[in-house]
Amino acid sequence: MRDITELTHSQSMRYSRHVMLPQLSFEGQERILASKVVVIGAGGLGCAALPYLASSGVGHLVVADHDHIETHNLQRQTLFTEADVGRFKAVAAQERLQALNPEPHIDAFTCKVDPLWLEQHLQDADAVLDCTDNLATRLLINSACVRHRVPLISGAAIRFEGQVISFLNTAESPCYGCMSRYFGEQELSCMEAGIFAPLVAIIGNLQALDALKLIAGLPVESGQLTLFDGLSSEWQQLKVPKHPACDICRA
Ligand SMILES: [Zn+2]
Repeated sequence: MRDITELTHSQSMRYSRHVMLPQLSFEGQERILASKVVVIGAGGLGCAALPYLASSGVGHLVVADHDHIETHNLQRQTLFTEADVGRFKAVAAQERLQALNPEPHIDAFTCKVDPLWLEQHLQDADAVLDCTDNLATRLLINSACVRHRVPLISGAAIRFEGQVISFLNTAESPCYGCMSRYFGEQELSCMEAGIFAPLVAIIGNLQALDALKLIAGLPVESGQLTLFDGLSSEWQQLKVPKHPACDICRA
């Protein structure tokens, strides 16, 4: 987090509906403005989370995605328009977000995320949103977040099912690797299984909600898994404990 500075008059106007929330007030909004958030993946989840991070005034937003926009993305990736087909998702997202709010500094990366990139961009982040759909990348992101003790907010959605979980990555808290050990991991992409459009919005918005709460200094439960079934509209919550054999977060 950068040095926290007082809101200017125009910022007080723009973010007034945040400031009037007693849980946030000026201090919470000032923390949001001073924060750095890294969003990996500008697909369905990223497209849902990013607008609220930008409109809320996150000071430094990093968007990473190496994919190009295809027509079948437009069903759920609502940051993009027909005219964006063929462009890099990260670049098109950056443009749309900057039009929404010119204040944040937004970096777009179109490279594939690898350990070196993560090392360079995650260590000073206040929160990382994993909006990817690929297990290998998820594990790399987790390792970097655990190593630098950066909070990780992980989202996943497929068919009608979605889940979101935040890991604060303190010494005592569980990590994404612990969850994988308890539940296993199925690597099934929406390319193979399909995805109901509004579901990614629900999960991506929950990721933005936790990120903004965390940055503003509001309590966020570490390792609390929230599951949503879009067919029955049922929510479930369960606590993921630290796994004694997890070699990623074991101190
Ligand atoms: Zn772990």
